[in-house]
Formats: sequence, structure tokens, C-alpha cells
Amino acid sequence: MKIQDAPIEPSLWYATAAPAPKTEPLTDRLNADVCVIGGGYTGLSSALHLAEQGVDVVLIEAKEIGHGGSGRNAGHCTPTFHFYEIPAIRKMLGEPFAARLIARQTNAANLVFDLIRRYDIDCEGVQTGYVQAAHAPGVLAKMEARCGYYQSVGKAARMLDRDEVTQLTGSPRYYGGWFHPEGGHLNPLGYSRGLARAVMSRGGRVFTQSPVTAITPEGVRWRVETQQGAVLADKVICGTGAYTTGFWPGLDRTFSTLGVAVMATQPIGDNLRKIIAPNNNTVVDSRGDTMIYKYNKEGRLVTSAFVEGRRGGDIAFTKALMRDKLKWLLPQLTEVDWQYYWLGALDMQPKTIPRLFDLAPGVVASLGYSGRGVPTGTMMGTVLAEWAMGARREDLALPLEKLRPAPLYMNFAPRLFLAWSRIRDQRLARAGGADPPPF
Ligand SMILES: Cc1cc2nc3c(=O)[nH]c(=O)nc-3n(C[C@H](O)[C@H](O)[C@H](O)COP(=O)(O)OP(=O)(O)OC[C@H]3O[C@@H](n4cnc5c(N)ncnc54)[C@H](O)[C@@H]3O)c2cc1C
Repeated sequence: MKIQDAPIEPSLWYATAAPAPKTEPLTDRLNADVCVIGGGYTGLSSALHLAEQGVDVVLIEAKEIGHGGSGRNAGHCTPTFHFYEIPAIRKMLGEPFAARLIARQTNAANLVFDLIRRYDIDCEGVQTGYVQAAHAPGVLAKMEARCGYYQSVGKAARMLDRDEVTQLTGSPRYYGGWFHPEGGHLNPLGYSRGLARAVMSRGGRVFTQSPVTAITPEGVRWRVETQQGAVLADKVICGTGAYTTGFWPGLDRTFSTLGVAVMATQPIGDNLRKIIAPNNNTVVDSRGDTMIYKYNKEGRLVTSAFVEGRRGGDIAFTKALMRDKLKWLLPQLTEVDWQYYWLGALDMQPKTIPRLFDLAPGVVASLGYSGRGVPTGTMMGTVLAEWAMGARREDLALPLEKLRPAPLYMNFAPRLFLAWSRIRDQRLARAGGADPPPF
């Protein structure tokens, strides 16, 4: 099975999210200023920011709101860059784009939680902070530098010593870490559905169960075709992420796909909740093949792992492996019963920062987030809305790029990175006198 075909119904979020607003398939021929394709954070935030400005916007989703990564992710909202540090982003993008993207990405969690408050979105959203814990003493210097980069852009980030990281995570396995107070977490499907409701409350029209099949020019406008209807629009925004289908030649080859398995335990009792992540932070560690956890509103621990070999596809194997990992990390946890288990797809590309593709005059796409899309997709909605409202390309937060397929090595690089980082991380742990995990 293609990872994009994995169902969303087994997910914890599908069982617990506030209901979606009522929507119908597109069966008419409509006119709009802007047509947005994709009902994930990118599309929904674009549509919302356009509708707020009085722009006539129609959003078309192939399945249901939040069907892609936006409804099935792990729900961490972390306003940092991953893989690349801030100085590397400056080098990669150059000015003025680097300063603009850094400002947007580092403020993206505030944007998310501001939208949640403004539109009263029922999605378990809490901005309780992000903890990144050091799995070995040898990574602390790098973490201190990272913490400094976020302080240098005005964030109240701070380092954590061993006692504090133990207290915040509940794990005796960590050697220190850093804390970013603007991180948080949410129910991702509830957030998607709430954004859709917000779009509709501002007059945006939202259609579901309507896969776009083609975008064709009609004079100076664009016809966005679905099986039963069409939208004639001045501008088109494609926010279809890892779930992109073939409606625009080559768009689905700009990224490679990496699967992620997400799972949730039974509700954890109050006594353990006072010990494990007692402040309801999101916890991530410094491993390349990261260990990560947070609670949902019922007190279930939610964790995830990249799909690789048997991991992900073989459910019994994956559940046993992840149970052993969690129990090793949190020895107080005597019982781990994975009551929910589901899969999703990431759109990976080498730069790992969002890409803006200039498909044709009046048609853009934004994807390739390589994870971290809760803040990034929401933030990119503001950029795409500015583009659709006529911002000049030199004034955008990101350069508009020509469509280019992802390099072939992206078909195996993410998995190779995982395998290599496991060896590196075990070595680092041993070198620092740390107790490496037995897997
Ligand atoms: C399992 C998993 C865990 C993750 N964990 C996190 C996390 O904890 N924190 C974080 O920040 N990020 C996380 N991510 C990444 C994040 O979920 C994504 O980056 C983000 O949701 C991408 O949003 P998007 O709107 O660009 O795309 P998507 O949410 O994938 O939405 C694209 C939408 O486009 C629709 N579509 C596709 N083709 C068509 C078409 N032809 N016509 C109409 N509609 C179409 C799809 O059905 C889909 O609903 C995770 C991702 C996965 C899969």
C-alpha cells in the first residue's frame, strides 16, 4: 500500500476531534478571485487570510478537511527550523529572504495559537512550551548554540540542566536540554476542522470530496476542474503537500515521501502524569531517529516513529519496539497499551524549508515542508495570501522557484540518515558515559 493511501479513521484524532463543519462536493461551475487546492493547514490558512481581507475564495479538498498530514500528524507545534540552524538558513537563502523566513517561522506558533484563540477553535491547543532533551552529554554544546540562536531572534529560550530536564520530561535518561516557551501542542484534525469553520465564517466557500483533476488556462484566468464541477479563478494556490495527486505535471515529483507511524497509549493515571511531562510540554530528544511524546486531552501519551523496514508496516513489531523504547525512556511506565495506531506521509526535500513553486503566471504551490508543518503550513498561508493579493515576487517571504524534481538521492537519503544517525547517537551516548538504549 502507498503510504498516502493509509486511512485516517484509525487515528486518535479522528476518534476525538470536534466535528467538521458541513461541506459538500463541488457540483457547480463557480467564479472566484482565488481558488485554493487542498484542505490542510497550507490551503486553509491561505483561504482564511484571504477571506479575512474580503477576497472571494473557494477551497477544494479531494477527501475530507485534514485528510492529509494536517489531520493525522502528532500535533507538536514547534516554532523552530529542523535539520538546519538559523545561521545555515541565512546562508542558504541569503537576504532579504532569510530574515523574512526566520521572522515568520520563529513566530509561527504564536500565529497558530492566536488563530485558535481568535476563532475559538476546539482543538486541545496548549502553548505550554517545547523541551528538547540531550540524549548524550556530547550534544549539549550544540544545543547551547541552538538555544542562543533563538534567543538572538528575541525568544525567551533557555538551557535546562540535568535536574530540570529530568523533572520536565519524567525521564532519567537525559543530560540536559533546552526549553522554548512558545512551543505547544494540539489535536491536529480538530485544528484543521476549526480553520475550515473559520474560513466559512469569513465567507470563504469550502468543498470536499472533490479531487482536482486539472488546472487549465482560460484567457487570463484559470479553470480548476473537478469531476463534477469547476472554478474559474484569477489565481490558484496549490497546498496539497505529500498527498499531491497528478493535477499539475511534475508537482508530485518535487519531494520524496517518508512515512510516519503515530501511536497513542491508554490514558495515563494522575499519579504518573505528575511525574511524566508534568507541565504538559512537548518532549523531543536530540537523536536523529528521535524519541518524542506529548499528551492528548485524555492523558494518552502520543508518540511517533519514521517508517523504515519492518517499522511502520509490521504493526505488531512496531508496537513492541515502541513499547520497549517508551518503557526504557520512562521506567515508571509499567504498562504501555497502544490503543491507537495510524500512518501518514511527509513530503521530504533536501532543503527541508518550505518551497514556493511558480507553476505559471497566477498559479503557485507551496510544499516540501519535510515535517514541522503545524506552524509552517499555517505560516505559509500568510505568504500565499500575500502573493494572491498581488505582492511583488521580490517582496515575498520566500523566493519563487521554478518547478524542479527532487534529486534522485532523496528516494533513499532520509532512510540512510536515520540508519546513520542511530549509529552516531549510540556512539555519542557511549562516549559520554551514557546508558544507550538496548535497541
Ligand atoms: C504522521 C505525521 C506526523 C507529523 N507530525 C508533525 C508534528 O507533530 N508537528 C508538525 O509540525 N508537523 C508534523 N507533521 C507534518 C505536517 O503534518 C505537515 O507538514 C502538514 O500537515 C502539511 O500541511 P499541508 O496543508 O501542506 O498538506 P496536507 O495536510 O497533507 O494537506 C494536503 C491536502 O491536499 C489534498 N489534495 C491532494 N491532492 C488533491 C487534489 N487533486 N484535489 C484536491 N485536494 C487535494 C489532500 O487530500 C490533503 O487533504 C507530521 C506529518 C505526518 C504525516
